[in-house]
Amino acid sequence: MKIFDEVDRKDHEQVIFCNDKRVGLKAIIAIHNTSLGPALGGCRMWTYAGDEEALRDVLRLSRGMTYKAAIAGLNLGGGKAVIVGDPNREKTEALFRTYGRFVEGLGGRYITAEDVGTTVREMEWVRMETKYVTGISRAIGGSGDPSPVTALGVFVGMKACAREVFGNDSLRGKKILVQGAGNVASHLCGHLKKEGARIYVTDIYEHKAKKVAKAVKAAFVMPEKIYGIPADIFAPCALGGILNNDTIPKLKVKIVAGGANNQLLDENTHMQMLIDRKILYAPDYAINAGGLINVANELEGYREERALKQAEGIYDILRAVFALARTEKISTSQAANRLVEERIGKISGIKQIYAGRSEFAGRLGERTQGGR
Ligand code: NAD
Repeated sequence: MKIFDEVDRKDHEQVIFCNDKRVGLKAIIAIHNTSLGPALGGCRMWTYAGDEEALRDVLRLSRGMTYKAAIAGLNLGGGKAVIVGDPNREKTEALFRTYGRFVEGLGGRYITAEDVGTTVREMEWVRMETKYVTGISRAIGGSGDPSPVTALGVFVGMKACAREVFGNDSLRGKKILVQGAGNVASHLCGHLKKEGARIYVTDIYEHKAKKVAKAVKAAFVMPEKIYGIPADIFAPCALGGILNNDTIPKLKVKIVAGGANNQLLDENTHMQMLIDRKILYAPDYAINAGGLINVANELEGYREERALKQAEGIYDILRAVFALARTEKISTSQAANRLVEERIGKISGIKQIYAGRSEFAGRLGERTQGGR
């Protein structure tokens, strides 16, 4: 692998290889773009097949964070870290404190957080060595679980979609298919119930879906059946890459709006398939930015009301995306990318950072559960 070519191709500012064999740390921190502010993004721990796979993942994920922060209107850049190792067996205080010292060494250019394979506990170890960490527990001034804020963003984002397609915001009586009955989906279902929507929920763990279904008086659906149910909205809240050649032809909905990361398996091909089927797509990194908004709030002293208020702004962000897509006759995903490009371009002069975003789609952790 030609490392500089790879870094250059995706336009990264800096990539740091962190190595400490005494504690068994092998980590890569990628800082994609800091035009808008310090690069914030989670630290993923994963059993990568090799160093090349780890590098590709961190480059891809860090660039994704640049988009999410920019579209959400945050003054933050995009970064990410990966630790090569088994999160079930190799997490030690020494490992994470050593990682924390590498983060500290960057002097605030990169701010870390939890992600797939890491939790609040490890971030608290990191915090012993650096203040450049978010996603710590409420008990010590952190923002805690981001999923309620993510879910609120998805809920208001759905309303923006409804306005675009049905002419008004109301989700009352709308038939909504929720894929996944995890953290985001369960909070989302709570909002949908209050609104009076008709909810259908699925999960690969039947007991999880049934529990959520019972709590919100939703119908339980088997996982493979969810795509074919005629409805108004499909809300993917489980895994990445689920909008693909197999699933899109089955969809009988008018809107796709959900919390999962990297929903389109291939950004260009599968976006076009949705357009051909006249399905409005809410770009994932815009509608699910609530989690990032939540941790970003820690940087100014966490206040839940402020984080929730900011997440409500996702309604206007999506309205702007849809308006641009309409006037320019481009896809909603191109419109979101263009808004990001314009915002970053104004500050840095960088013209095009989104070329090739399609390769973001579901690999590795995104096929199971993605980051924030
Ligand atoms: P979670 O692990 O709590 O829930 C995911 C659920 O999806 C699990 O219950 C899992 O069993 C289920 N699932 C997996 N594969 C499935 C399948 N094929 N069919 C049906 N269900 C399936 O995760 P979460 O925190 O709720 O996050 C959900 C998605 O939202 C992820 O893609 C995540 O990256 C993204 N996201 C989450 C946040 C957040 O604040 N938690 C923020 C932004 C994005």
